[in-house]
Amino acid sequence: MTTFPDLLRSEQRFLLTGHENPDGDCVGAQTAMSHLLRALGKTVHIVNPDPLSKDFDFLRAHTTFAHATAGEPLPEFDVAILLDCSQLQRVGALGKRLRERLDSGAAKAIAVVDHHVGSEHGDGSVCYVDATAAATGALVRRLFRELDVELTLPAAEGVFLSLVSDTGWFRYSNADAEVFAMASELVSLGVDSSKIYDTLFRRNHPDSPTVLSDALQRHRLLLGGKLARVSLDKALVERCARADFDTDAVMDPLRSIEGVEVVALLKERFDGAVKCSLRARGDVDVQAIVRQFGGGGHKKAAGATMQMTLAEAEQAIETAVQQALLAHR
Ligand code: 5GP
Ligand code: MN
Repeated sequence: MTTFPDLLRSEQRFLLTGHENPDGDCVGAQTAMSHLLRALGKTVHIVNPDPLSKDFDFLRAHTTFAHATAGEPLPEFDVAILLDCSQLQRVGALGKRLRERLDSGAAKAIAVVDHHVGSEHGDGSVCYVDATAAATGALVRRLFRELDVELTLPAAEGVFLSLVSDTGWFRYSNADAEVFAMASELVSLGVDSSKIYDTLFRRNHPDSPTVLSDALQRHRLLLGGKLARVSLDKALVERCARADFDTDAVMDPLRSIEGVEVVALLKERFDGAVKCSLRARGDVDVQAIVRQFGGGGHKKAAGATMQMTLAEAEQAIETAVQQALLAHR
């Protein structure tokens, strides 16, 4: 059986991709992986299903990002690596195109680098998966070691972005000793932590306080105060998008309410589906909750795309969380 490091050594042309709306962990891990592969003398293209958020523009100084558009040809590659997800279905329309390349024999393999529960059973034939790792970027950092490649500053910035994105800037319970040891090493290499913080969180649109307060006003405390839920209809989702507002920020104040065990953010999508994000405090496993809606993630942060109306999704989530809380007693 080919190991992941063997695959990187033996193949030549790589396409790096990840989940729709790539987040900081996804693009940070891609950044580091692209520099690792270049150091090994490989050809690398990063092609995401969606454009890069402007938050991550600083990465473009040393790394090239593309996104797939219908009608534009994809670069040639031998291996496509999915980072921060394990299923082609999570890669949107691009996932189908990657599958076609494989089926036609134009590409040799789909590989996976991921830290989600169950990712070894995804679409990768060669996987580098550890569900205990805080971020996908931490796994790429481990690969530098396994392949004996020195970490450069651009790669270190990628790993740092991954770590801070998935640990809530080192606040969550996944911020373990490996994370802090890596962070120390990355800062020693020259990563400017406070500059990255300002780049990510201190360039908000003037409308962001208004959309944040409008979103927070819609919160409800349910199940005796154990579930905090916010539902954003299309109109508010659109206002958030126009203000370039990251709706994740809505969950934090709700997570801080004493007694809340689960926070649910439901967003109505333009195709009629509902995007659901769950965050847990305490021991409830939200990944297990979203599984029944075809989603996934981690014990304390998970999501799903639910094929139902907003009102139906509200009810379904309330019922599912109630069952999980009861099972947990
Ligand atoms: P978020 O709520 O920030 O979108 O995602 C939280 C976690 O759940 C992330 O690790 C993300 O990859 C995962 N996740 C979010 N939505 C989905 C989904 O539709 N399917 C799967 N499998 N995982 C998801
Ligand atoms: Mn991640």
